Amino acid sequence: MKRNPNKHNRATVHDSTWAVHGGNNIDKGTGALRTPLIMANSYLLPEDPSAMDWSSVDRGLVYTRNAGANQVALENKLAAMEGAEEAAAFATGVAALHGVFFSLLKSGDHVVVSNVTYEAVYRLFGELLPEKYGIEATFVDADDLDAVRAAVRPTTKLIHAETIANPTTKVANVAALAGIAQDTGVLLTIDATFTPAPFYRPLEDGADLVIHSLTKYINGHGDAMGGVVVGRSELVQHIKHEAVVDAGGVISPFNAWMIMRGSVTLPLRLKQQFSGAEKVAAVLASEPRIAYVLYPGLPSHPQHELATKQFGGRGYGGVLAFAVEGDSDTQNRFVKNLQVITSAVSLGHDETLIVHVGPGARLGSESYPASFNKYGHLRLSIGLEDAEDLIDDILNALDATFGQQ
Ligand SMILES: *Cc1c(COP(=O)(O)O)cnc(C)c1O
Repeated sequence: MKRNPNKHNRATVHDSTWAVHGGNNIDKGTGALRTPLIMANSYLLPEDPSAMDWSSVDRGLVYTRNAGANQVALENKLAAMEGAEEAAAFATGVAALHGVFFSLLKSGDHVVVSNVTYEAVYRLFGELLPEKYGIEATFVDADDLDAVRAAVRPTTKLIHAETIANPTTKVANVAALAGIAQDTGVLLTIDATFTPAPFYRPLEDGADLVIHSLTKYINGHGDAMGGVVVGRSELVQHIKHEAVVDAGGVISPFNAWMIMRGSVTLPLRLKQQFSGAEKVAAVLASEPRIAYVLYPGLPSHPQHELATKQFGGRGYGGVLAFAVEGDSDTQNRFVKNLQVITSAVSLGHDETLIVHVGPGARLGSESYPASFNKYGHLRLSIGLEDAEDLIDDILNALDATFGQQ
């Protein structure tokens, strides 16, 4: 611990202290300890506004599509949490991803994308951006670094991957991908939704831009949506200008305020959720009624060693993919038999959530492991419940499911 820490100075405080105090301002009017929710779309102009730049993103508060008090507070907190110069907040995670691609790419440009990504990214690069804007994409196995390097062309502008990929839990080697990006003069954009700071900071391993769905762990309470891009000011301001000010995907003050509040407990929640996931994964791995389980913390996971090194032994995330032995009806029966775990999409929620995805039901699923295409998969996001209760719930549901046959 450094001496005389100032709770508002990122350089002198630890992560948990920053999670509580970062970006927060005591309200000057009332003395309220927390930045109030400021539901205003316009702010008082200076005496002579006649020469103002209306699309400015850095001239203070004018109009909430450019900058509002709650979104600026959230951006300041998250930028410093990630070790970035600047952050741009968006209405959703997908708006943030789209904002990056929309701002940085033009017709004729090419991108190299991991062949396991969030489905909306797969659709953006597989269909929408090529069809509408003539942007070309090559999907590659991001674990095959030679293939990634070979896929880069003179027109390539960026490489995109997820730290832990949704839904197969494939782990990207961020430092190695950053090396390729640097050698070839392209940008590395990393979706780190499964592994937020302080757990892992991809910028430290050489990523140029990091994107998060704030809807997931950073808010963490399943009640607000948001997205963020963090990185160097020059890049983030360019994205803010084009995708927030000119295309309008801004986060609402209310959601920014909610996420600011949710993120106070982020470091604590990640510890609880990630350690719960390790316990659940160990039980699933030793259970004969489970067909397969993929979790980066298991020695059987293809990138287990990489994950241990990259995440510094602090954990392996809170999401698992598995299936029970049996057909699609068996997976549904198992989910129905769960009493504590809820069937719903999303992840990083305070509740443990499970979703059954059938084989081939997702775009790009031909790149998933063979077991996914044989059984389909159950994506399990561990919440804040006691791990013992989750394990009992799973074992009881297995008994009920196989007793019914
Ligand atoms: C959920 C998710 C997104 C999209 O975020 P939204 O807030 O739902 O738009 C993007 N990437 C990953 C890895 C996700 O899990």
